[in-house]
Amino acid sequence: MKTDGIDMLAFSSPHYVADLPRGHVFPMRKFSWSATWIDRCGLGCVVEPGRVSREALHRVHTPDYVRSIETGEYNPLTALRLGLPWHPTIHRRAMHATMGTIAAAHAALRDGIACNLAGGTHHAFPDRGEGFCVFNDVAVAIRELQSIEPWLQVMVIDLDAHQGNGTHAIFRGDANVMTYSAHVGRNYPSRKEPGTLDIELSRMASTDEFFSRVEPTMIESIELFEPDLVFYIAGADVHEDDRFGQMKLSSRAMRERDRMVMRYVRGWGIPCAVVYGGGYNRQQGMTAWLHTQAVWCAAERWCIERGLTVPDLPDLTMLVQMTSDDDPADDVETAQPQALPATA
Ligand SMILES: [Zn+2]
Repeated sequence: MKTDGIDMLAFSSPHYVADLPRGHVFPMRKFSWSATWIDRCGLGCVVEPGRVSREALHRVHTPDYVRSIETGEYNPLTALRLGLPWHPTIHRRAMHATMGTIAAAHAALRDGIACNLAGGTHHAFPDRGEGFCVFNDVAVAIRELQSIEPWLQVMVIDLDAHQGNGTHAIFRGDANVMTYSAHVGRNYPSRKEPGTLDIELSRMASTDEFFSRVEPTMIESIELFEPDLVFYIAGADVHEDDRFGQMKLSSRAMRERDRMVMRYVRGWGIPCAVVYGGGYNRQQGMTAWLHTQAVWCAAERWCIERGLTVPDLPDLTMLVQMTSDDDPADDVETAQPQALPATA
């Protein structure tokens, strides 16, 4: 039952789902499940973004690396650290998901808020992929915007449980880009790349620790930097049941996190592009719902700003039911994990 939705753009494509060996640990179906649910619940206008150009990719990634993803001839570091066995759809997925973040950035600059129902692949470096991240979508989008408007001030608010090492390395020394990251200090990636501001949280960080460390530093960073655009990486792996995040936020605390970001960023009138980041819950359906919840928070803000009725928070039970009917035998819980890089 599709409901009349709101006009906030939410970019997605059937190509966001790539083929992986059966039982692979990466929860690929969260992308199609959450997009379907967001569309059905009317949380946004789901739009196909198309594929990113080679020219845009080359502003961040080396031509050799881009070619290796096209052909499947991974370089040794990518082969060791990416964690996604090559398939033509791995390349296709990365092209579309990267374009989704570019499209969301343009839409946010025009409309105030927009989402990419994927993205936040912040471990990708110019010459290699790591931790399930093929292309660094946020970096490609920032370089694309800078090619049009060189002085645009862009802030990345990265609240995934893992540090965005690739993004930090790419923008080191770029005074027009501020990288703010709050993540577990002693977790993947083992070697951190300094960002503009890193908030290192303890293992199994609680809700109290998270908000007491993040809220004041994030506000101060926004006030000092005065960005023209924010990319918000709303990682779902901070959830208490995530397998890799090593944090202890409940679904409700995550909702308050996402609302906090929207409240401050949009409170200053700053355009905000929301992307997914990681999420590896014990149940894939739960991961899909947590990403959906982040989009709901963006939709809520969209409605508040326009005096519209806020849609109901999507029902978790119905989503889990829908996803468990899909193919329960393929659930990661019942399958053997493949070789895993330290994770995204
Ligand atoms: Zn992560």
